[in-house]
Amino acid sequence: ALAAINFDISELAEQSVPAQPEGVSPAHTDLATYCAHGGYQTAAALVNGEMDAEAVLAAMEDSGLRGLGGAGFPAGRKWRIVRDQPAPRLMAVNIDEGEPGTFKDRTYLERDPHRFLEGVLVAAQVVGTEAIYIYLRDEYHGCRALLQKALDDLHREPPCPLPHIELRRGAGAYICGEESAMIESIEGKRGEPRMRPPYIAQVGLFGRPTLEHNFETLYWVRDIVERGPQWFASFGRHGRKGLRSFSVSGRVKHPGVKLAPAGITVQELIDEYCGGLLDGHQLYAYLPGGASGGILPASLNNVPLDFDTLQPYGCFIGSAAVIVLSQHDSARDAALNVMRFFEHESCGQCTPCRVGTAKAAALMQAPQWDADLLDDLAQVMADASICGLGQAAPNPIRCIHKYFPHEVGEGPWPGDLPKPRNSPLTEQ
Ligand code: SF4
Repeated sequence: ALAAINFDISELAEQSVPAQPEGVSPAHTDLATYCAHGGYQTAAALVNGEMDAEAVLAAMEDSGLRGLGGAGFPAGRKWRIVRDQPAPRLMAVNIDEGEPGTFKDRTYLERDPHRFLEGVLVAAQVVGTEAIYIYLRDEYHGCRALLQKALDDLHREPPCPLPHIELRRGAGAYICGEESAMIESIEGKRGEPRMRPPYIAQVGLFGRPTLEHNFETLYWVRDIVERGPQWFASFGRHGRKGLRSFSVSGRVKHPGVKLAPAGITVQELIDEYCGGLLDGHQLYAYLPGGASGGILPASLNNVPLDFDTLQPYGCFIGSAAVIVLSQHDSARDAALNVMRFFEHESCGQCTPCRVGTAKAAALMQAPQWDADLLDDLAQVMADASICGLGQAAPNPIRCIHKYFPHEVGEGPWPGDLPKPRNSPLTEQ
């Protein structure tokens, strides 16, 4: 099964960004290869007391690394908060990767699992966590075999004393990617988000303070410690700092995971990393952050893509899944598709989300939308839902009202916009 896993390293490569350290094979990196190129030396030095944990924590803070699962919380600050909580502390690693359009964690995991595991060990040592629970999306069968083998190899030839590590299978639900729902699931309960406060950092897994991280956040730890925080912070465009792994799909010539500077615009991403749009296609719209992050028009192709930069437009980058639409697509249809997804994936715990997503999906099927009713519904969902799923579910409704009113009978078709071929209003 391991031999069957393959990926195209050229999809990741970019002139100015080292996608893979020099000398390391672009194929799956096993333990021997990883160690032959300096692997686990940082973790071992830290565990053996040859490296100062406070210096590592400071490097994490200075690098500006943020939670790459979507929330964007500063990683170093999170380490410090959890470290200051009473022991015993635990760690939960989120590899549920269920956001539509996102496949970066899987791509990195398939090629370099030990780089991620070293990040886990470094974080565990700095924060002082006694046990680690890795929650892996159940649909990633090949990744599970690969990660289990990497863990077995690590236990057979440990570079340093290892904490307790458990690999857990995900429950197949999108909502289990939400940190508190994931923790409920690891505890053996239904994956339903918790009310906060208390926060996971204070009362998390099994009632203990918990450091929760996405796979990719931990993947960058070794490089930040070894190359220095300025290495990571030196990337970036349009005033932003760091690296982002964009999962690009849709109407581009070369879709895939694109490791690019934070703050790059969608037009730059398409032109410089994806070989441009497919022949015969013009940019019409794009989803900057998978299903949850909203939909933007082509006229906003110059907005820097990063945490915080999209909020003025009613959108967010989340896990950086960029879906590119052309004149062959309809933003309205994309919004309806997204709402149906939320309806299906709502955990049902709270009424605004459970009923709101179902009602919205029904209303959005009409060629001409009932704008007032949908606005009311969107407001209730955003204000009264327990977790991010219900709070973000109205984003597509609001984006269609704001940027694509012509698609739902709320205004004339702008003369300078290409017409999506699949919109029910196109032929009117
Ligand atoms: Fe569940 Fe939706 Fe409420 Fe979140 S907002 S707790 S997914 S019903």
